[in-house]
Amino acid sequence: MNANTEDTGTIAFVSGANKGIGYEIARGLGAQPGTTVLIGARDEQRGRAAADTLAAEGVTARWVRLDVTDSGSAEAAAKWIDEEYGRLDILVNNAGIAISRDAPSATSPEVMRRTYETNVFGVVSLTNAMLPLLRRAPAGRVVNISSGLGSVALASDPQGPWWETNLLSYNSSKAALNMITVSYAKELRESAIKVNAADPGYCGTDLNQHQGVRTPAQGAAIALRLATLPGDGPTGGFFNDDGPVPW
Ligand code: NDP
Repeated sequence: MNANTEDTGTIAFVSGANKGIGYEIARGLGAQPGTTVLIGARDEQRGRAAADTLAAEGVTARWVRLDVTDSGSAEAAAKWIDEEYGRLDILVNNAGIAISRDAPSATSPEVMRRTYETNVFGVVSLTNAMLPLLRRAPAGRVVNISSGLGSVALASDPQGPWWETNLLSYNSSKAALNMITVSYAKELRESAIKVNAADPGYCGTDLNQHQGVRTPAQGAAIALRLATLPGDGPTGGFFNDDGPVPW
């Protein structure tokens, strides 16, 4: 089947959608009429379970194998989407890890490398694999799930909430993701594709041993807004529920 000849509705792909904020983004997108949501997950059992749970709620959801640290996996996912639908309307780069809480002076290159493999390189490889499909959509939308912790402006403000926060590997990976967001938005500014970064706020998930104060569904809200922006909406921005976040 190919969407160039058939109307397949809206096709949305969410990386790391088997749990946490990504699952709630998938659920929210899938709740919109005519939307098929593709659950990108590296583990077959977890991916299928999420798709099945959403399907039981009436969502059109399918599991797609994806490990963002493996560019071959991203390309295979894109090939499958091409064969099934011929295009992609929404890409949400949500998969992310936080593996160390160390201060900069105690952070190893290995921790940096592992974090960047997922949070930075994974986004570039998945986005590049999906771009040809997004270009075929009438209004492509890319949402990168960043964090307020990636804001250099907030981190460098002695009066700000994150002056004392270290987390070098995670925070710097999200700062890099912010530049990635702006860079893609600039390259694609003449196209129909909008690229924005979302800050979900501090949500209770496995990533932070459920310390967060917001629910994953609350965290998903800003990503859902950015994934469904109208044609006159922003591109190259960084937003939370309250509006723009300083870079
Ligand atoms: P979770 O740990 O609950 O979910 C992370 C998801 O990413 C899981 O589905 C996980 O899959 C997946 N994932 C991790 N590595 C890979 C990989 N190599 N390939 C494919 N999928 C992968 O975390 P959250 O829901 O909290 O995080 C989602 C995003 O939100 C992240 O980018 C995070 O940085 C961001 N964020 C989270 C905040 C929070 O307070 N929770 C705040 C701000 C941003 P698996 O189950 O297989 O491990």
